[in-house]
Amino acid sequence: MTDVDAEPAPGWQQQLAQAVRTIEELCERLGLDARKDISPATDQFPLLVPHSYLERIRRGDPDDPLLLQVLPRSEETSATSGFSTDPLEESALSTGNGLIQKYRGRVLVIASGACPLHCRYCFRRHYDYSANAASREGFRRTLAAIGSSSESAEVILSGGDPLSLSNDKLGRLLTALDRSANVQRLRIHTRFPVAIPDRVDAGLVALLQSVTKPLTLVLHINHANEINPALANAAARLKPNVAALLNQSVLLRRVNDSVTALGDLSEALFRAGILPYYLHQLDAVAGAAHFEVADGEARRLHERMAARLPGYLVPKLVREVPGREGKTLL
Ligand SMILES: *Cc1c(COP(=O)(O)O)cnc(C)c1O
Ligand code: SF4
Repeated sequence: MTDVDAEPAPGWQQQLAQAVRTIEELCERLGLDARKDISPATDQFPLLVPHSYLERIRRGDPDDPLLLQVLPRSEETSATSGFSTDPLEESALSTGNGLIQKYRGRVLVIASGACPLHCRYCFRRHYDYSANAASREGFRRTLAAIGSSSESAEVILSGGDPLSLSNDKLGRLLTALDRSANVQRLRIHTRFPVAIPDRVDAGLVALLQSVTKPLTLVLHINHANEINPALANAAARLKPNVAALLNQSVLLRRVNDSVTALGDLSEALFRAGILPYYLHQLDAVAGAAHFEVADGEARRLHERMAARLPGYLVPKLVREVPGREGKTLL
């Protein structure tokens, strides 16, 4: 978790440094009692919540849908059959250069192992970034591998969170990809603007503006309460500088598993200029079983969403099946 450069700290880097990292501080700030179902079972995947995200959590509400995404619970330590540390079998697909080749015509770049907050349901919570993240010396090997791959028409920056990189580093990477002859489209998947909206600073906006190839930005927003005015402003600054501004969510028990929550999310996204793209079934990662929504229930929710919203506000309900070269529609 060291990819954020020690440059003269602009706002977002300082905010990340000041993020809440203990259960005690989180509970104190939110006026919650540390209860016995809250667990510091976090040695491998510690608690991390920036203040800008914390401000959107309701004080004194142990069931707050944003709190549930970031609060480590004792259930994380109970083993559940079918839930593993590498549910998508990505370690077998990692090329060692920070690339994951699992889709046709699209290559994933693990641009950074760092994240602006730690989401308890994350499918890469056990991922070995030190072995698989792109190297710090200018991504040379990663770029060479992309240049020689026949499946790199679209390059997807993923992580961790690619916006954990400084604007300088991200700029070097994007500029090189923009120049790479066999790359036609670029994409960034990020939750950073959700965690710390100030990440969308003038430097990042200028950088996105400078990219000549179509660049799609996919945000990861799971609940309407995550879209506060700061995030809406960030989206408004991003939108004119990208080819498409999309969102993907994960369907999470007690967080957004109701037609009301999902409908409100779609409408709030639209107001912020973001189109709902995917609604993901949870990846079966060890420690996240308590977030699972059964497939039958997921389909029922999705049908009821489709009945009450225009088609462009209904995300595709998908799951990732290891070994398949694209997502599977449910
Ligand atoms: C699904 C997924 C992709 C690939 O997305 P498509 O839109 O299906 O090409 C890339 N990155 C992440 C994190 C994903 O979940
Ligand atoms: S920001 Fe994304 S990669 Fe990081 S912990 Fe959250 S879901 Fe996982």
